[in-house]
Amino acid sequence: MTYGGIEAGGTKWVCAIGDGPDELHELTTIPTTTPAETLGAATGFFQQNGKIVGIGVGSFGPVDLERGSITTTPKAGWANTDVVGALRAALDVPVAFDTDVNAAALGEQRWGAAVGLETFSYITVGTGIGGGGMANGRLMHGLLHPEFGHIRIPHDRASDPFDGVCPYHGDCFEGLASGDAIRARWGKRPEELSGDEVWDLEAGYLALGLLNIIGVLSPQRIIVGGGVMKEPLLLPRVRRRVVELAAGYFDVPELSDGIDEYIVPPALGDRAGVVGALELARANGSG
Ligand code: ZN
Repeated sequence: MTYGGIEAGGTKWVCAIGDGPDELHELTTIPTTTPAETLGAATGFFQQNGKIVGIGVGSFGPVDLERGSITTTPKAGWANTDVVGALRAALDVPVAFDTDVNAAALGEQRWGAAVGLETFSYITVGTGIGGGGMANGRLMHGLLHPEFGHIRIPHDRASDPFDGVCPYHGDCFEGLASGDAIRARWGKRPEELSGDEVWDLEAGYLALGLLNIIGVLSPQRIIVGGGVMKEPLLLPRVRRRVVELAAGYFDVPELSDGIDEYIVPPALGDRAGVVGALELARANGSG
């Protein structure tokens, strides 16, 4: 049985046909333009490339998981887009729908850095900050879905007077620590920056966010991906800072000597999202 997977991002949609990370038969990337154009290109890709028995979609959000739609996104033209309805109408197969980060988490649990774990978190630090994961072996859903990017973290305006970029909250986690925030604070793209000042500040915010997640969800591991994390100085500093902030309170090796195995990059790399979407489709089909 072969499935379709879509990692529906705010800048690009990655579409794949296959059964897993080692069995990707077709893969394509479509720029995210208008809903009609992007959904049209995605359905065209699946129609041209043979039979699939179901599709999984990991979408940027916020999303309405019941209706299968993108809801209040500030991305122009995309508010209230019925993604599942459009795919089902064009392709006539079952469509499973979740957040991009939950799809990536599912892929990591099946094939990557969270194999064998029941409770773990997946965070992506890119243009925005998103988070998902599993609790007790199930993808986390609830009132809506986790919105790790919009938790509040301490912000010392004396040392960092930057107001933050979140259109809703200003200096929430995403507002202070996303790629967009780095760009706005320093006037450059994250990949153009170097220097301790930039990455120590960033590592400090990320560590505060992760410590909140550790305190609330007690994840057995935290996977941290996304474009900002490609900066090699960053992850080691985040780990060190988490241990400092935890201050010896959590009596487990993961929050001291074992930190390098506790806060880890995605084993599936940039493919986690689309491969996870294939697994969403498969899990949906098997009931
Ligand atoms: Zn916010």
